[in-house]
Amino acid sequence: MRIDISDILKHNGASLKLDFAEHVKVNDFIPEDFDFGGPITFKGTLVNSGGIIKLDGELWADYRAKCSRCLGDIDSKIHIAVKEDFIEEGSDKDEEDYYTYQGKFIELEKVMIDNIILNLPVKQVCDEACKGYCPKCGADLNNNECKCVNEDIDPRLEVFKNFFKDN
Ligand SMILES: [Zn+2]
Ligand SMILES: [Zn+2]
Repeated sequence: MRIDISDILKHNGASLKLDFAEHVKVNDFIPEDFDFGGPITFKGTLVNSGGIIKLDGELWADYRAKCSRCLGDIDSKIHIAVKEDFIEEGSDKDEEDYYTYQGKFIELEKVMIDNIILNLPVKQVCDEACKGYCPKCGADLNNNECKCVNEDIDPRLEVFKNFFKDN
């Protein structure tokens, strides 16, 4: 996702339209509960503002997540407003606050991945009414009832507990 910005670098105020759908290796950087299988769609602009290149746009992506209660698959979408500033690598501004570009190219892959990571939900449920698994006996409470008195335990840990019990 390398963008040639040589045209807008020449003129203060010049802008470049962005409209693409590309695969990004976001899965390498996020928990396994999430799977971005398809392309990332982005529409926006890059504007040269006194040598700082300003990215402003929107990102869309489909992904699959696991329900934090029943571990079932959830097909979901993310839609994020993206605003980032880029400065030329080696310039004297505090680079902590900026992304950098080298020469005539801006690399957008890291920006897309960072924005997705920041906006991932911490926990997701297939349905607000999902009952998940009983943390004591492992029964699927969406389809069964059990007689346990439940404390709050992460159902994912419970799956492992049962796994070791059975083996
Ligand atoms: Zn669920
Ligand atoms: Zn139970």
